[in-house]
Amino acid sequence: MYKAFLIKYAEIAIKGKNRYLFEDALVHNISYQLKNVDGTFHVRKENGRIYVETEGEYDYDETVTALQRVFGIVGICPVILVEDEGFDKLAEEVIRHVDETYPDKNFTFKVNARRARKNYPMNSMEINAAIGEKLLEAFPEMKVDVHHPQVLVNIEIRPMINIYSIELPGPGGMPLGTAGKAMLLLSGGIDSPVAGYMISKRGVTIDATYFHAPPYTSERAKQKVVDLAKKVARYSGPINLHVVNFTDIQLAIYEKCPHDELTIIMRRYMMKIAEHFAYENKCLGLITGESIGQVASQTMQSLAATNEVCTMPVYRPLIALDKQDIVEIAEKIDTYETSIQPFEDCCTIFVAKHPVTKPNLKYIKKSEENLNDCIEELMKKAIETVETIHVDAE
Ligand code: ATP
Ligand code: MG
Repeated sequence: MYKAFLIKYAEIAIKGKNRYLFEDALVHNISYQLKNVDGTFHVRKENGRIYVETEGEYDYDETVTALQRVFGIVGICPVILVEDEGFDKLAEEVIRHVDETYPDKNFTFKVNARRARKNYPMNSMEINAAIGEKLLEAFPEMKVDVHHPQVLVNIEIRPMINIYSIELPGPGGMPLGTAGKAMLLLSGGIDSPVAGYMISKRGVTIDATYFHAPPYTSERAKQKVVDLAKKVARYSGPINLHVVNFTDIQLAIYEKCPHDELTIIMRRYMMKIAEHFAYENKCLGLITGESIGQVASQTMQSLAATNEVCTMPVYRPLIALDKQDIVEIAEKIDTYETSIQPFEDCCTIFVAKHPVTKPNLKYIKKSEENLNDCIEELMKKAIETVETIHVDAE
């Protein structure tokens, strides 16, 4: 029934001269998302508006779902575009639109006309009144409510006249590709995929690093991380996933360092290695799924100890979220079910019964000295043997 969608975007409209860059990125990203949808689509920019026009048959629900994954979009309005052929023709089109969209006419409404083209012979107030009257004539059950209408019938006089009354929510955020790239430390847990999604929502593209410890962690655990990356990629675009073999480093730490400090020391080496790949791939920061106090390794003291090895900014979008809030986002972006599959992750195998919760950096560094004779070599080997998987949205 609809041959076009009007795409609304808010935040990017205020970016001054950069506005065109943002709009162009949005047009590009919309086209990219729609590649996987049945149908032929044309995305075009016109006077601060973006339209998605369809050609022939297409799947409406799939189209809306795809558009709802494009960061930067705040509203998706299925729209009727009509030529200006006089008021009577316009009224006819509006009546037809309302009739087809709302089988039950028992609702309140308001007409909201706007003229982007001032040469139209009626002003907005006149259009509102005249179209309102026509609608009431056609459907006496409908009632006008100018303050809290259930249906807002929008009529915008542009080169073509836009008629729409439905606005579906977009994901918000900023268009991908407008903010640089960051390196996500992606585990098989609930948190890190959500963290990647959230930073990506600000227009940041992502690479990811996953540390596994075969044979202590299985091929299946790695596949789970690839599956999570695929889910995140539906929003963030393709992800290069760097899979690092962390076994020898973990064994060395396990052998040579106090067990209550294992997790902190291990996490420090994870950050260092992730940062290596971040620099190599021109990332501007690291992303983790840490949240204050969630576990022993995420107290303020532990975060400080982990952070100390990093020279890049570390983005922790979940830092102040409760687990339940994180789970809700995981459910919304459909990573939750994958995250809760029971496969061991490399941290759980080497965890101490009583990890330090207030690590003292001085002691941690002292313990790390025990690794002096081997750690350079082990890090080099871990970096050299990385497996990089190009992950596309599933
Ligand atoms: P998640 O649910 O993201 O696994 P978590 O609550 O299990 O988080 P930790 O295991 O302490 O918390 O990990 C904190 C953060 O460190 C993770 O969010 C992730 O960014 C990173 N991380 C942990 N383990 C790995 C791993 N094996 N590979 C890559 N990154 C990891
Ligand atoms: Mg984890």
